[in-house]
Amino acid sequence: MRLTAVLKRCIRKVCLNQLFLQLIFILSACSQTGCGMSGQRDLGAFEKYVTQFEEASVKNHRPIQVIALIIRMGSLPKQTLALCTIGAGAPLITVNQERWSSLSESQKSIVLNHEFGHCVLNKKHNDASDPSGVRKIKSIMNAHPLLATDYSVHAESYLAELFSQNSDI
Ligand SMILES: [Zn+2]
Repeated sequence: MRLTAVLKRCIRKVCLNQLFLQLIFILSACSQTGCGMSGQRDLGAFEKYVTQFEEASVKNHRPIQVIALIIRMGSLPKQTLALCTIGAGAPLITVNQERWSSLSESQKSIVLNHEFGHCVLNKKHNDASDPSGVRKIKSIMNAHPLLATDYSVHAESYLAELFSQNSDI
């Protein structure tokens, strides 16, 4: 009888430990993804940009796996190339269907990395100039990201800034 009671207690403890580990895993996943309550990942033709973003996050020591994000073409005002909307469910990026095809590949990366900054990293706009003077602007989170016309030259530096923890002031 005594052995059975000990066994039962051990089994319960193992279960609790597993529950605890699962909780830690969920909390950790939340902190890495902005914690959309819905885990829906629906990227359509934009999958490759998210994959590149995830690869850059690893390279910049802030590994992120995007679990909750929807990207769709849609109708937007002419001056808005894309828009991040955060509400209930997975964050949504709407891409301007009239403007997208006229953008260069470099511009497409800038626009989507800017929106990932909002929708995945919870970043706000940062219109500061680059203190080192090396790049045109400090951050891809500039309210007018296409000012980063030097992106193709300084992409690594812009991405390092994007993934830094303390530059979204
Ligand atoms: Zn923005």
